Amino acid sequence: MPCAIAETPRVNRLPRILVVDDDATFRMLAKRALRTADYDVVEASNGELGIQLYGETHPDLVLLDLMLPGIGGLEICSLLRARWGQATAPILMVTANESAEAIEAGYSVGVSDFFSKPVNWRLLIHRVRLNLEARTAMIGLRESQLSLANAQRIAHLGSWTWYVENDEMTWSQESFRILGLRPDQDHAGRETLWSRIHPDDREQAATRMHEAIRDRKGFECEHRILLPDGGVRFVRQQAEVRCDIDGEVSVVHGAIQDITEQTRAVDQIRYLANFDGLTGLSNRRLFRRNLHKAMKRARQRDESIAILFLDLDRFKRINETLGHTAGDQLIQIVAERLQTVIRRGERSRHREDEERSPLARLGGDEFTLLLQGISSPQDAALIAQRVLKALLEPIVVEGHSVTVTTSIGVAIFPGDGDDAETLIRSADTSMYRAKDSGGNRFCFFDDSMNATCERRLTLESQLRCALERDQLDLHFQPKTCLADGAVTGMEALLRWRHPTLGAVPPDEFIPMAEEAGLISPIGDWVLLQACLQNKAWQDSGHARIPVAVNVSTQQFVDGDLCASVRESLQRSGLEARYLELEITESAVVDDEEATVAILHQLKELGVRIALDDFGTGFSSLSYLKRFPLDTLKVDASFVRDLPDDVGAAGIAAAIIAMARVLDLHVVAEGVETERQRSFLHDCGCHDIQGYLVSPAVSGEDFARFLVRQEKQATP
Ligand code: C2E
Ligand code: MG
Ligand code: MG
Repeated sequence: MPCAIAETPRVNRLPRILVVDDDATFRMLAKRALRTADYDVVEASNGELGIQLYGETHPDLVLLDLMLPGIGGLEICSLLRARWGQATAPILMVTANESAEAIEAGYSVGVSDFFSKPVNWRLLIHRVRLNLEARTAMIGLRESQLSLANAQRIAHLGSWTWYVENDEMTWSQESFRILGLRPDQDHAGRETLWSRIHPDDREQAATRMHEAIRDRKGFECEHRILLPDGGVRFVRQQAEVRCDIDGEVSVVHGAIQDITEQTRAVDQIRYLANFDGLTGLSNRRLFRRNLHKAMKRARQRDESIAILFLDLDRFKRINETLGHTAGDQLIQIVAERLQTVIRRGERSRHREDEERSPLARLGGDEFTLLLQGISSPQDAALIAQRVLKALLEPIVVEGHSVTVTTSIGVAIFPGDGDDAETLIRSADTSMYRAKDSGGNRFCFFDDSMNATCERRLTLESQLRCALERDQLDLHFQPKTCLADGAVTGMEALLRWRHPTLGAVPPDEFIPMAEEAGLISPIGDWVLLQACLQNKAWQDSGHARIPVAVNVSTQQFVDGDLCASVRESLQRSGLEARYLELEITESAVVDDEEATVAILHQLKELGVRIALDDFGTGFSSLSYLKRFPLDTLKVDASFVRDLPDDVGAAGIAAAIIAMARVLDLHVVAEGVETERQRSFLHDCGCHDIQGYLVSPAVSGEDFARFLVRQEKQATP
């Protein structure tokens, strides 16, 4: 096994020459000539002694006789090379036999040079000197290669060269290590390098390389290396390009540095600077930065954002009674619960996402939540409610079950603050208001929002019982014929008589009922009551006219509208033609096919269909053709400005004309004045509905209205 250790250092001593020759005269002459030339000489009279002395004296050059008794010169040469490898001193073979075979045999076993006998001593001295100089140069080169390799290893820095023309690459040892490759087995090709680059970074690296070649300039980029065991290493690549005389890129020299440790250290520093050590949430600093960014974006997009400022109620007492360790545990569990509220259980593994997380711990028991792109303050209220609910479940810390509540202050941008500091202060102030009101609640900074929110919360929680508690009621509004003033129909309009808040308008509670999934039972109730009431009036001798019932979009989607209609008709005994269903365009657009099918089924039952609020939605003319409609209701917004507003007048006239062409019955809504009535009459509108004739009134009042009308009609 050749020994790869470096040559024995020759410090402050004369170059040493080992002379191996059985000829004593030769040895004596050689010694004299060499010593005169300032060389130190060691002599051996045979091969065995020569080998022994080589090991003991570490000569810088060997003067070796080819023909020796015992071990011959060639064998000695082989033995020395085998033992000392590349570090073997140059061997100058002195021989009288300069046959071609002898020369070939000598070089093949590692002879450095040949010299003929009889010896010209002057010439020999020069040969010795040249061989020694060559050796010194070789040692220097090898040492610098070694120290370069060492330096590369220590600095985790590898180098590579890409010969563009034949697409070949050479890599240093350290490059192999960095790429997780074995120098003896893996191919140092461009594909190998490419296959090691992390798939997500490959495009970026390819672009850089491409640009460097195109622009004939160097490049620098950082990317990840995917190791065979799935591990990831971060590297920095720097390269420069060399061009040939035609200006074409011929070679790219590159350096690849393993920067995994630095990257991890930077990550760690960034983490410590931006995240809270206890919970892993963003800290105050990162929260502020995210808030600044969010406000900037909201300004550009004209959007709203909300911040929720949370402070746990009576947390100090938990800390004092159970100790700080328990307090810390509690904070961690609270943080986890808050995470599930905002992420619904899905935790991101990406650093970028974590940095953008809307949740932060400002310190102590204070948390903040940033909500972007909210459509109304109600969205923030909804999240605040979820947070309060998420904390209700008792938390077990150190064997104690504790229930922790929080006070939440909500501030909305724009409105409650134009800059981050003011907005945070507003949220903080409203948090104290929530706390002063007993905690376990949220409070908006703006009082009008609090009132709206409170009303909404009250209504939402009580809507469920409104039906059972008999608080719902139907009012009726007549539709009259423009030609003769006769009552042609009536619209049933829902009313909620709230015990403390008074009459709640349907525009406010119908959307709530839709959201809470309560619209089907309420809608069914309205249908049945309207049918029962109409049948009762008919039975008591009043005119047989249809009652119109408003149908919500949700009733189309969720419930079985046909079954409800059929049941109401059966139970009331009302003929189907005296029931009209008013649908809005929004019921239609979601799923046109399904809606058309349902409408046809309803038509088969014999009920009438009206399109309500026409002109406010998509107002697609194709609906008018495709749907089996009987009536079109012109929305009040076009009627309001009649007849003076030219635009409104044009639209109302056009809708009426179009409906008549399609053979639809046209009803104008919201008619309040005689001038409006007259204009609509001139346009050919069939019926009107509005305060001019009567507002929506209770069932009893409507019955009286009918009586009055009937008396007027009878001369
Ligand atoms: P809508 O179906 O367009 O009903 C007409 C609305 O205009 C009614 O408001 C009515 O009181 C009002 N109105 C009538 N004449 C005039 C007038 O001359 N001037 C003005 N300014 N307004 C007039 P209401 O009762 O507040 O109902 C509002 C909406 O609530 C209804 O609009 C309808 O979409 C919905 N709604 C009412 N009852 C029900 C129901 O039982 N079920 C469903 N799904 N929605 C209902
Ligand atoms: Mg209506
Ligand atoms: Mg309407």
